[in-house]
Amino acid sequence: MADWQSWKKEAAYVGGAWIGADSGKTIDVTNPATGDVLGTVPACGAAETKRAIDAAAEAFDGLAGMGLMDRVGLLWKLHDALMDNQAALAELLTVEMGKPLAEAMGEIAIGAQYVRWFAEEARRAKGEIVPAGVNGRRILVTKHPVGVVGMITPWNFPSSMLARKLAPALAVGCPVVAKPATATPYSGLAWAALAEEVGFASGAVNVLTGSARDIAGAMMDDFRVRKVTFTGSTEVGKELIRQSADTVKKVSMELGGNAPFLVFDDADLDKAVEGAMVSKYRNSGQTCVCANRIYVQAGVHDAFVEKLVEKTRALKVGDGREDGVEQGPLIDMDAVEKVEELLNDAKAKGAEVACGGARHSNGGSFFEPTVLTGATPEMAFAKEEIFGPLAPVFRFETEDEGIAMANDTVFGLASYAYTSDLGRAFRLNQGLAYGMIGINSGLITTVEAPFGGVKESGLGKEGGSQGLEDYLETKYVCIDGI
Ligand code: NAP
Repeated sequence: MADWQSWKKEAAYVGGAWIGADSGKTIDVTNPATGDVLGTVPACGAAETKRAIDAAAEAFDGLAGMGLMDRVGLLWKLHDALMDNQAALAELLTVEMGKPLAEAMGEIAIGAQYVRWFAEEARRAKGEIVPAGVNGRRILVTKHPVGVVGMITPWNFPSSMLARKLAPALAVGCPVVAKPATATPYSGLAWAALAEEVGFASGAVNVLTGSARDIAGAMMDDFRVRKVTFTGSTEVGKELIRQSADTVKKVSMELGGNAPFLVFDDADLDKAVEGAMVSKYRNSGQTCVCANRIYVQAGVHDAFVEKLVEKTRALKVGDGREDGVEQGPLIDMDAVEKVEELLNDAKAKGAEVACGGARHSNGGSFFEPTVLTGATPEMAFAKEEIFGPLAPVFRFETEDEGIAMANDTVFGLASYAYTSDLGRAFRLNQGLAYGMIGINSGLITTVEAPFGGVKESGLGKEGGSQGLEDYLETKYVCIDGI
């Protein structure tokens, strides 16, 4: 079985070939836990991207036109190749990104599940026959692959964020031109190696590393790229939506979050704390669905904080490859500074540090898991994504107040609430302006469900049947004279 080093591809993959940048320039990739340079990747730009789009456009007819079960068979093989190499791919992910190995194993596994799910869903990409309004006519509605798809993904889930895009695209016959985040390119390049290994034709999957502006710019300018799917910050997402207008591309945008986590007086407190721990601290707080604001109803506030602090103190921080580590480093020093800035702002406005509150003694980009009490809407994290292991606790009195505070943001990705009142659960479903709502669950991502946000958290869905629909165009045929 190959080890993680052999999955570390120090080249881009374009038109079925592993290439360097035209300029010969490279970019260093480092391990955030140690600061060691792991290797390099090519600093590609617009010219290499144009060649990748040429290759993808050429591959389109072959990929879209092959027998459905042949394409599905390739996805089954892709699933198996991922799972056969799960440990090596997970280690590669941990060394470039920092998350604990157990989380990286989970990320590879859910990526494989997305591949399997979309292979299944592609077999159900059904059209419709709609009753015609007049005799002698038939109305057919049919589904077709959208065409070449450009994909841009972030560093926090370097493997599974691509899985959710690659799998539906390939399942319906759309060739791919992907650009993973510069901090974590190897898990993205591994998808190219896997696609090559299982037999996708050249041009079906292309993966480029290098300048985000140049690569994305070339994708956005090219009419042949009919869809762009992006996961990342709202700021960049807005820019891409603007750029998509010139060639009227379909866009899917998985953008930032600011998840509220509500705990009501009638909640099972131990379960609520367990949910808060997983929702807040997974990936050291660096997920778009991490609890960003924890709202606790007055009657259970103090008891909840006590339990949360106890569990937070017990978290083991360290190199993700070490046994039992639950919290890795943050991605880089900018991330540490951002967390410190939010912490200092909150302290200046009256918040109290209940535990943590400083850089970790491990040095580098490690930060202590931190609980803050006395959080208020005036503090910066009430409006901004923290993206780090900082858990601010707000107090609220009534259900209406809790919902209003939770909705007081431009974001609308994930939200969570703990309650034992069934009626309240339905009122929350109605009242929370979020694309995803976890009732009595802090971990809600699953392949069967449509993952995605509302408001400034994005457009479109990944997963579920909706996640396939985003890669399809609908045509209508009117047959007259029957
Ligand atoms: P980011 O700065 O927006 O980067 C994401 C991707 O966009 C990277 O590949 C990056 O390339 C590229 N990029 C940067 N500037 C660009 C530009 N001007 N034009 C085109 N592409 C550009 O976000 P991040 O800091 O990596 O990721 C964290 C953000 O992602 C958070 O806001 C988080 O909430 C969000 N996220 C959302 C979801 C979701 O499903 N909704 C999931 C995960 C993360 P470089 O790496 O080369 O800069």
